[in-house]
Amino acid sequence: MEKLKQRIAEEGVIVSEQVLKLDALLNHQVDPELTMEMGKEFARRFKEDNVTRVVTVESSGIAVAFATAYELGVPLVFARRKKTLLAENNMLCERVPSFTKGIVTDILISRDFISENDRILFIDDIIANGDAARGLIKIVQRVGAELVGAGIVVEKTFQAGGKAIREQGIRLESLVQIGSLAGGKITFAE
Ligand code: 5GP
Repeated sequence: MEKLKQRIAEEGVIVSEQVLKLDALLNHQVDPELTMEMGKEFARRFKEDNVTRVVTVESSGIAVAFATAYELGVPLVFARRKKTLLAENNMLCERVPSFTKGIVTDILISRDFISENDRILFIDDIIANGDAARGLIKIVQRVGAELVGAGIVVEKTFQAGGKAIREQGIRLESLVQIGSLAGGKITFAE
């Protein structure tokens, strides 16, 4: 998405050679029009896949996952990031390292909102090492649902996540690929 690339170039803040702050677009502020366009693009790419539910992990994936689910006309389910005291035994749980927080968190989805009959599209904001995606994929596999693919807004191709997920045979579509953050510069991969 050319427009998204431009916005990232203008509004992204390089924190280190590994981390790009995208608070102005994805992780703190949301541009509804741009986000709906991202949703349309993911919906276009996965429209033949008979998706029954869009799934993301709270919180930064929710806006774009909502836009995608709206376009596909299906529910959005967002995995919770820590244990709640409610309905624990009905929850599917995976432990994943958090790239930005440097801690391990649990991601949880209730069995009430995902089942073996589902065809799941996983949507997320950014992929780095792929831990969040792997956790989510494990939950989908455990419940016996079909994962039709993953839609990621920003793939940092200099980190291993996207490649590793594709090597598992999973279709991963990213809207923008960043090849490097070296030298204080955002270099796009395409
Ligand atoms: P992973 O599990 O793929 O290593 O990291 C994925 C999650 O970490 C994303 O959902 C995203 O919120 C966060 N993340 C990873 N890399 C970056 C980054 O460069 N900038 C920001 N803002 N978040 C990131």
